[in-house]
Amino acid sequence: MIVLVLNAGSSSEKSCLYNLSEFSIDTPAKPLWKADIDWSIDSSGGVLTVSGNDRQKKVKLERHNALKVLLDTLIEGETKVLDSLDRIDVVGHRVVHGGTNSQPRIIDGDVKQAIADLIPLAPSHNPANLEGIETIEKILPNIPQVAVFDTAFHSTISEPAKVYPLPYKYYDRGIQRYGFHGISHEYCAHRTAHILQQPLDLKIINCHLGNGCSIAAIKDGVCIDTTMGFSPLEGLMMGSRSGSIDPQIIVYMMQEYGMGIEKIDRLLNKDSGLKGVSGISNDMRTVIEEIDKGNDRAQLALDIYIHSLVKAIGSMVASLNGLDVLVFTAGVGENNGIVRQKACAGLQYLGLELDTAKNNAAPKDENIATKNSQFPVLVMHTEEEWAIACSASTAVNS
Ligand code: ADP
Repeated sequence: MIVLVLNAGSSSEKSCLYNLSEFSIDTPAKPLWKADIDWSIDSSGGVLTVSGNDRQKKVKLERHNALKVLLDTLIEGETKVLDSLDRIDVVGHRVVHGGTNSQPRIIDGDVKQAIADLIPLAPSHNPANLEGIETIEKILPNIPQVAVFDTAFHSTISEPAKVYPLPYKYYDRGIQRYGFHGISHEYCAHRTAHILQQPLDLKIINCHLGNGCSIAAIKDGVCIDTTMGFSPLEGLMMGSRSGSIDPQIIVYMMQEYGMGIEKIDRLLNKDSGLKGVSGISNDMRTVIEEIDKGNDRAQLALDIYIHSLVKAIGSMVASLNGLDVLVFTAGVGENNGIVRQKACAGLQYLGLELDTAKNNAAPKDENIATKNSQFPVLVMHTEEEWAIACSASTAVNS
């Protein structure tokens, strides 16, 4: 089965083409073709980097025909991997907000309407996802499409972890904790069991640390708690998002500084986190470079990030009532040994013992704890596109 995966974000878009016959989510296959669009480099358009047929090329893009140009690289030129787009059997989309949907859904009018209805809850993501779905409908009208929701993995969270302590009527109106990064958390749980050669009946804490950061507490393969909530703003300190703060600060800023909704929204989502505290960047690499030059505010930004992370891991241990394995994934989790080392240093009370040499040796899908550690610590390369391909294939076959 030929599966095309589209993972559209506000500033980037990742696409992959897989040929699936027998597959298991815990064992990712290499894509036949891969395309990344970066919309953040150039305000007038984006840059598409495609690899296929052992070749790579870069193309400048404009938004209005981006998907058409992207699909053409599958069937034309040096990156060609298909004779015709009709060879595609299914298109899988990452959809950030799926509300209370607990499973991937084959896309029809109702599913599109549900994604549109959820735009107020995910204003920078769901519109891009819907646009991708509708463009594919026009170009490939006969090919089934599947929506794979980032919220779905968290639908198993029980009421005490899901309902906010607000007047109950707001829960009835949909104000609840949904959780995000579910596709990554689910993949990492399965991959963890595979790497450890154990069944899935583990207590796993998965730390997805990218530009957005969230932790999931996973028991027997099922999510029981997570740090993100109603929106991807709750929980850990992130690249440019504050994570959890005292909500009264917002009331105070509105009252005392006359700040309106747009300013507050921008402050919390775009100008806070590592960027806000350091005053320099949302990128952990830049923050660490500045620390090396003696920048105290960059140091403080990292210290708050670690404090927030260690505290949240502790709360997830409490939710799980124990811990069998700790996992670090996504841009920072996979690549930044300093963050892992500092976080692990704050977890020695749990019996965690880090193997410093392994931590510093660019590990991938490996245990970086010593033999004496009470539990393994894995560094994992997350494979969201692979997980979407598996879900899309299963949805059209069932
Ligand atoms: P997104 O949430 O946008 O998918 P990523 O998972 O790509 O984000 O993570 C972005 C973060 O990962 C940035 O803070 C960046 O510093 C960090 N990062 C990415 N690659 C590396 C690397 N090779 N070394 C250290 N940090 C990295």
